[in-house]
Amino acid sequence: MAQIDNLPPLREVIASHGLDARKSLGQNFLLDLNLTSRIARSAGDLTNCTVIEIGPGPGGLTRALLAAGAKRVVAIEKDQRCLPALAEISGHYDGKLHVIEGDALQINPQELAPGEDIRIVANLPYNVGTQLLLNWVATPQWPPFWLSLTLMFQKEVAERITAKPGSKHYGRLSVLTGWRTHADQLFDLNPKAFTPPPKVTSTVIHLTPRPEPFECDLKQLEKLTAAAFGQRRKMLRASLKGLAKPAEPLIEAAGLAPTARAEEIDVAGFVRLANIFKQNGA
Ligand code: SAM
Repeated sequence: MAQIDNLPPLREVIASHGLDARKSLGQNFLLDLNLTSRIARSAGDLTNCTVIEIGPGPGGLTRALLAAGAKRVVAIEKDQRCLPALAEISGHYDGKLHVIEGDALQINPQELAPGEDIRIVANLPYNVGTQLLLNWVATPQWPPFWLSLTLMFQKEVAERITAKPGSKHYGRLSVLTGWRTHADQLFDLNPKAFTPPPKVTSTVIHLTPRPEPFECDLKQLEKLTAAAFGQRRKMLRASLKGLAKPAEPLIEAAGLAPTARAEEIDVAGFVRLANIFKQNGA
C-alpha cells in the first residue's frame, strides 16, 4: 500500500470511527491510496486549484488530492459519521480541507470558491451521480465555473456518457453532456478495489468544457432527446411526431433524414433539431 502521508491507513480510520458502509448512501469506499492517487493525478495540475470533492467518505481520495498538492479541497459529505475522520485530515494538512456537511444536490458549488480555478473530482454516490453531472454541465454561464470534472461512475454509465453516435451506448446522456463537453474514459477499477465491493466495474472519466459549445436551449434539447431515445428503434419522423405535427419538415430543415434513427444523429444534429423545433414553437 502506498504511504502518501502520515495519517493512519484507511482500514484503521474506518474501524476507529465506526464507518460501516451504508448502501443507501452509495458507500463503496476506495481504500487503496495507489488508486486514489492515480485518480488525483488524472485530474491535472492541482497546485493552483481549489478541488471540489463530492462524498469524501473516510477521505481516501481527499488525502490523495491534498498529497498531490491541491491548493485547497472543499468536500461535501452527507454522512455526518465521516466528519471526525475528515477533521483529522484537515488538521494534518493545515486546514487546506474544508468540509461541508450536506446534500450535494442542494448546494450550489459555484458559491464555494468564487473566482478560483476549480476542478471537481469525485467517486460519486451512484444514486445522485448523473444528476450532479447534468447540473454541472447545465450551469448558466459558459465557460463554466469549473476547469475539469474527473469522476468515477459505474462502467455502464461512463460508457453512456462518452459514447459516440452509432454505438449501442449512445443516448440521451451522451448528447446532454456532449453539447458542452469533451468526455474521455480514463481507466477501469475492479470491484475488488472497493470496500464493500460493488456488483459492477467502475470507470474514471475526465470531462473538459468545449471552448465553443453549441448554442441551444437545454430544455428543448432535453425534450427532444427524451422523445427520440425514448423510442430509439423508431425513425425520427415517428418518435418526434408528438412534439410537432408534422415533424418531417422540421427534421429536414435541420438537415436530417426523417427516416434516420436517434442513435445515428450526432450532437450537432440534435442541437440543430432543438433550435429548429424551438423556432417553430414545437
Ligand atoms: N470518496 C470516498 C471514496 O472514494 O472512498 C467515498 C465514495 S462513496 C462511493 C460515495 C460517498 O458520497 C459516500 O461517502 C456517501 O456518504 C456520500 N454521499 C452520498 N450521497 C451524497 C449526497 N447527496 N451529497 C453528498 N455526499 C453524498
